[in-house]
Amino acid sequence: MLVCPNCNYEYTEGVTICPDCGTNLIEEKSFVKPEEWTEQNWEVVFTSNLEYEVEMMKDNLEGAGIHSAILSQADRNFPAPGDLTVVKLLVPKNEVRAALNFIEQIKNSPDEQV
Ligand SMILES: [Zn+2]
Repeated sequence: MLVCPNCNYEYTEGVTICPDCGTNLIEEKSFVKPEEWTEQNWEVVFTSNLEYEVEMMKDNLEGAGIHSAILSQADRNFPAPGDLTVVKLLVPKNEVRAALNFIEQIKNSPDEQV
């Protein structure tokens, strides 16, 4: 079963792109619903003091089909005592390697917006 990470809809086999939003569908088992987000199954892959930098990186990752979530001081679901000035970008643990590779590519590419 494949699901759309944007719409949360399930699609039958054979469908690989969401007809509603055009997002690549993912395996249901790798899909983490927002209410299941915990610090146990998400890992920080990028941090910055500047929220827009993190948002830009999130957009880049999502463009590559990698799911991500921003953890900032405004988000009370992720209390981070003593570390409130840093905005963090989290990805599901099973996508950490892909995300780190992708971030590395962006950093090494002078043509990309950073
Ligand atoms: Zn969709």
